Amino acid sequence: MADRESLKNRVAPLEIYKVTPRTNCGECGQNTCLAFATLATAGQQDIDACPHLDRRQVQNLRDRLNRQLESGIGVSREGFDKTMEFLYEEVKKCDFRVAAQSLGAKFDESAGQSALIIPYFGDLVSVTMSDIKKLSGGELSPWEKIFIFNYVIAGATEPSGVWVGMESLPNSVSKVKSLKAHCEEPLSRLYSGKMHLWAQAAAPWGREVSLKDHGVDFAAEFPVFPKLAIRVLFWDEIKDEGYASRVKFLFDSRVLQVLDLESLIFACDQITDRLSAQEKVG
Ligand code: SF4
Repeated sequence: MADRESLKNRVAPLEIYKVTPRTNCGECGQNTCLAFATLATAGQQDIDACPHLDRRQVQNLRDRLNRQLESGIGVSREGFDKTMEFLYEEVKKCDFRVAAQSLGAKFDESAGQSALIIPYFGDLVSVTMSDIKKLSGGELSPWEKIFIFNYVIAGATEPSGVWVGMESLPNSVSKVKSLKAHCEEPLSRLYSGKMHLWAQAAAPWGREVSLKDHGVDFAAEFPVFPKLAIRVLFWDEIKDEGYASRVKFLFDSRVLQVLDLESLIFACDQITDRLSAQEKVG
């Protein structure tokens, strides 16, 4: 059975995908870098088959990947089932009635079994001892299910109200780079000179926060879960003075009592994907 530490350190397809150049050149035998990453995580593709990976990161990924494949954690059906089996066992230890209060969730027994109804990215998810689903009927990806379980199992902590950057969180050096490269910089480029699009882009899942007194051009808070919000700050370019646009993600100083760093990066990726899609619509 996988232990909790192994689960926290698992390699997700997205993590491998991020160290590919995303050119879909096909030299590895797969049509896309994403297919390569998915198969590598499932142990069905040699990670060294891509000659273009960032070599500094491959050794660490390879070691972790080998360990997780040996312990049966992966994205293959069997590996995912094992992970979920472990998480369901952990969830069964929760008293939902008590957990509901600390998680900011609603305890519900209307369907004949205990359930937690948890606001999640503007939607509602229902978590029972044997199932997890969106109440709107939309699909949850396997990684979202694991992400939500992590929130339930960790048990939330009241936020401190103090906002800090990723660099202020312990052991976050590699995550600072990852957040910058995959979330902050792409959003800076995407919204540069487009201040007017931010309010509309943030509206479906977030709420605008006024930080103009602090010199921030636009700020929004995204409640991923009731006890976990992430702020995104934007400074637009000032061409005449040579200032480029900038985006910064902020977290409550107690956030690591709610979610591990890997899950936090997953949440930032989700916000980035949604804001990127929204900009294209705009
Ligand atoms: S060889 Fe590397 S860059 Fe090319 S498609 Fe495969 S993963 Fe992507």
